[in-house]
Amino acid sequence: MLVITIESNKRTHFIDITDRIQKQITGAGITSGFCIVFVPHTTAAVTINENADPDVPRDMDSLLDGLIPWEGGYRHVEGNSAAHMKASLVGASELVIIEKGRLVLGTWQSIFFCEFDGPRTRKVYVQIVSNPDRQS
Ligand code: ZN
Repeated sequence: MLVITIESNKRTHFIDITDRIQKQITGAGITSGFCIVFVPHTTAAVTINENADPDVPRDMDSLLDGLIPWEGGYRHVEGNSAAHMKASLVGASELVIIEKGRLVLGTWQSIFFCEFDGPRTRKVYVQIVSNPDRQS
C-alpha cells in the first residue's frame, strides 16, 4: 500500500490528486490492473469529477453546504457533524482501471481528494493491483 500525504488549506477543499497517483503507478511499473484510492478519515472523502472548470468543485461545495449546513443543531459534540455527513455522502474510496501504465479516466475526469473539515494534514491510501497476465 502506498500513502500520499495531502495538505488542505481551508475547511472545504477539493484537491486534484490524479498526477500524484499516476506517479505512484509509473514508479511501480504497473502496466495493467487497477488501483483503489482510499481515504482513511471520517471528515474527508474522494470523488471523480471534472477537472477543467474549477466552478464544478465550487458548485459541488455550494450544493453540499446547502444540503448539510455547518450549523444544524447536530448532536455530535466535536462540532463537525456536517463534515462527517458530507464524507459519507461522497464516499471513502474510488476504483480506477490502469491500462498501458496509465489511469483510465475520461478526458475531463480527475480524482479529487475532498476535505470537509480542514485545514488539516491528511493521508490517502493507494493499493495498486496488477494484472499478472498483462504486464510487459
Ligand atoms: Zn467529529
